[in-house]
Amino acid sequence: MPQPTAIVTGGGRGIGRAVSVELAGAGYYVVVNYKSNASSAEETVELLKANGGDGECVGFDVSNSDESGKALEEILSRRKTVDVLVNNAGITADGLFVMMSENDWDTVVNTSLKGFYNMTKPVLKKMIPQKRGSVVSIASVAGLTGNRGQANYAAAKAGLIGASRSVASETARLGVRVNVVAPGLIETDMIRNAPVENIKSLIPMARIGKPAEVARVVRFLCSEDASYITGQVISVNGGMF
Ligand code: NDP
Repeated sequence: MPQPTAIVTGGGRGIGRAVSVELAGAGYYVVVNYKSNASSAEETVELLKANGGDGECVGFDVSNSDESGKALEEILSRRKTVDVLVNNAGITADGLFVMMSENDWDTVVNTSLKGFYNMTKPVLKKMIPQKRGSVVSIASVAGLTGNRGQANYAAAKAGLIGASRSVASETARLGVRVNVVAPGLIETDMIRNAPVENIKSLIPMARIGKPAEVARVVRFLCSEDASYITGQVISVNGGMF
């Protein structure tokens, strides 16, 4: 049996890096995608190799269908199987909705939601004939509750949940499971400018989560231990609601 392959979008930093390391530790060959920060993605690959794992990094923009299509075609032709896809790449461009530029709406929605389309469709075409595969997408608590100043981000993440649940029901009988992880506040570059001390008071556990705490749930959902779980949204948020 060939070494199973996992593709992690935005795997160079933050939650994506933790997921890449976790999946490499579980035996996957990890394809670490990044958009522009090549050195950080290379560091992720070095890190997973230092822990006895294996993988590579590949730069492309998940929101760009031509770019991601070409890159995926090359990866899918080279790897015997693709067993896991983690749609983790995401960005924020916060602001009150009435002030929000069209560009801020489009780039945020296109990264999470168009990225899901661009990545998941070609990968499913490989997973379905294999009769095996797991897709996990990283949404957010904002996609479940909405959040002031994040209409674009909340819409993108809510869309990701709707799309995942729909695709899950289409692939449930074909051996492919599709789930969502919805983190609360996690210690990464993304929240560098967030008012963390104020937000902590809204979190029952009164602390920020760590990327590894999200990554372990992703690893579980990808594993055979989660063989009867599909179309679900698992929150990792310190008990926020
Ligand atoms: P970071 O900002 O730390 O990392 C984002 C990653 O996404 C980077 O690797 C970046 O690549 C990559 N990326 C961004 N845009 C693209 C693109 N168009 N194509 C390919 N890769 C891209 O974010 P986090 O680790 O915090 O977030 C990871 C996911 O978790 C996101 O979807 C985010 O929305 C979600 N999330 C995060 C929370 C948090 O509190 N941190 C809370 C809830 C959800 P590069 O390094 O090249 O820039």
